[in-house]
Amino acid sequence: MSAAAPDSGSRDAPGSGRGADAGGRGADTGGRSSERLAELVALSRRYGSDPAWVLAGGGNTSYKNESTLWVKASGSSLGTIGVEGFCAIDRARLDAIWDRKYPDNADEREAAALADLMGARAPGETKRPSVETLMHGFFPQAFVVHTHPSLVNGLTCGRGGEEVFGELFGDEAIWVPLVDPGYILAKTVRQAFEAFRARQGRSPALMFMQNHGLLVAGETPEEIDSISSSVVARLASRVSRRPDRRSEAVDAASLAEMMRSIASLAGPGAFVAHRADADILAFARDAAGFAPLASAFSPDHIVYAGHEFALAEGAEDVARAWSDYFVRNGGPPRIVLARGLGAVSVERTQAAAASALALFLDACAVAVYAESFGGALHMPPKMVQFIRNWEVERYRAKTSIGSTGG
Ligand SMILES: [Zn+2]
Repeated sequence: MSAAAPDSGSRDAPGSGRGADAGGRGADTGGRSSERLAELVALSRRYGSDPAWVLAGGGNTSYKNESTLWVKASGSSLGTIGVEGFCAIDRARLDAIWDRKYPDNADEREAAALADLMGARAPGETKRPSVETLMHGFFPQAFVVHTHPSLVNGLTCGRGGEEVFGELFGDEAIWVPLVDPGYILAKTVRQAFEAFRARQGRSPALMFMQNHGLLVAGETPEEIDSISSSVVARLASRVSRRPDRRSEAVDAASLAEMMRSIASLAGPGAFVAHRADADILAFARDAAGFAPLASAFSPDHIVYAGHEFALAEGAEDVARAWSDYFVRNGGPPRIVLARGLGAVSVERTQAAAASALALFLDACAVAVYAESFGGALHMPPKMVQFIRNWEVERYRAKTSIGSTGG
């Protein structure tokens, strides 16, 4: 790394084996931290405003010195975040969470772990840290960037993804299988992290999370960039087909009929967004074409675009597809595809309709990339259900504090 960080000499080089809980804390001064927090803000905005890395409110970043971890607070968006968008956590108290024993019951466990996470905030801190904070704490590197890029998720949502991961990244990265989000995910990451350290004698700088995303850790923003671009380059070398985002013309009268049908089904106050490109039209062609999108890839997709999409055989079939969806799921679809016409998102605000469509397009991209990694690997129904229930809790939290998730 050429851009020498002011205190880079005082810490071990990345991957040299210093554990997250090894000594040497407390030497950082306030001035140095504020410079590095400014670097964190710039790094976060750069990744947060690039749709190849982050969509909607997704992803999170952090910087740590010896005693404190600053992590994106719930309710902040990476693309526009300022230093006030980060939540300060006491690292010793964060580490102490691993000495605790939590109840087996999922709701009780998550509530207790969240309470301890809130309790680990630095004195005077009032913002709410994301549950993914626990993962940031394990990595000894100063900067951590966690994102959900579609290219990477082509691998993490591919049936052969773990095998290709082993070939391309096995010596330097960890693979985290799909488990319940929250505390269990953090615990699984911790086990994978410790196993890597025992095997390699150093900390990993990279983590691939099945059906979820990527985490990159580095001592400087430049190091994060160089690791990230090497991940992209290596994955790109294995990709045989890329998403085709070019917009396609569709029959205007039929599209108008589809929109009228959706407007009357959704009722007053609905906002819609439409998109047709070659990939969407291929997915919407028939049940076989639709199979790669037939279930959810990642928690992010469920949160922003729904756990399932409705498929109609054409404009005249939209009402049938809508009501089948409603009966199956107890609520209306958020994405409707129609053969020859593309996809429409339906939400209660314009911003939500745009986010739902963006995440749907991401699911399409993930499905296309996954073709190069053994074909689509969806989340199992039990996990989808867990996320849907969990999301209810998150939604409550969101509305109570006016945040937009983590
Ligand atoms: Zn995530």
